[in-house]
Amino acid sequence: MAENAATVIATYSRRMRVRLADGRDVDARIKGKRLRPVCGDSVTAEPLDNEQDWLITAIADRHNELTRPNMRGQVEVLAANLDYLVAVAAAEPRVDWFIIDRYLCAAELMGVDAAVVYNKVDLDSDRESTAAELANYEAIGYDVVSCSAIDGTGLDTVQRLLAGHRAIIVGQSGVGKSSIINGLLGSTRQRTAEISEKTGEGRHTTVNSEMLPLPAGGSVIDSPGVRDYAPALESVVVAADGFREIRQAAQHCRFANCRHLREPGCAVKDGVENERISARRYESYKRIVNLTNQLSDGRY
Ligand code: GDP
Ligand code: ZN
Repeated sequence: MAENAATVIATYSRRMRVRLADGRDVDARIKGKRLRPVCGDSVTAEPLDNEQDWLITAIADRHNELTRPNMRGQVEVLAANLDYLVAVAAAEPRVDWFIIDRYLCAAELMGVDAAVVYNKVDLDSDRESTAAELANYEAIGYDVVSCSAIDGTGLDTVQRLLAGHRAIIVGQSGVGKSSIINGLLGSTRQRTAEISEKTGEGRHTTVNSEMLPLPAGGSVIDSPGVRDYAPALESVVVAADGFREIRQAAQHCRFANCRHLREPGCAVKDGVENERISARRYESYKRIVNLTNQLSDGRY
């Protein structure tokens, strides 16, 4: 039987849309109950006799995964094989930098570069404190763009940052993720065709996440599952790896297993006192440490 390398480009619970190596997009089911492909996965797919559907029979090893803990404390994979993360904040709803730091932490732990995109600049009423935060993100090495999806300001820069990447766009509901994607796609946006209902067990299938090719190259994954996001962390020490400037300073802590909380000789706390490290970012770090502790206690 013919076998094909394919990429998962949209997921609807147990049904998928995949792009075959020859460029064709086809609907697919998943063989058995154990395979759990996500958007971005490289898979093996086989055509089925007398059926439109293809069958996903294997998932290739993943380079990385964007994960989050679900309600039962298990780790859920949202997307795989990414090389860039775009964290969107906006003037409205009121920006919560802690959430942005959680996304950036996830990007660090996945080993991918990230951008902070500040949308709705046309509405910004608190420019000074926003500018200071954005300048700090830039100083620690993130790409930073201010934009307005409504009037198009800055979208060319976003487009340029995404070219050649397979990115995921994340951010609280209402910050303008869909508007930014629409702005990047221009008039070319079309929702992935509805998966045919014939073999869909009669249930309505809603799109879960999808990977959209961008006109200037690259693609972006739009996944509604990333609201209220907390990265899945294995331990407190890992949390420090999610903050670039803390990870760097930590090399100079007296103790190799310093948690940068109350330990003596802590280069991170020194950095905060000397304002080399943003006190607000350090606060984010401590909150993630607390979240992680609650998770491992099963209280989250
Ligand atoms: P999402 O939930 O992150 O996908 O956000 P949406 O793209 O649905 O946008 C939420 C709301 O913000 C909508 O009413 C948009 O019209 C509005 N919006 C998006 N971008 C901008 C912007 O740059 N400026 C202004 N003023 N409104 C925007
Ligand atoms: Zn320390």
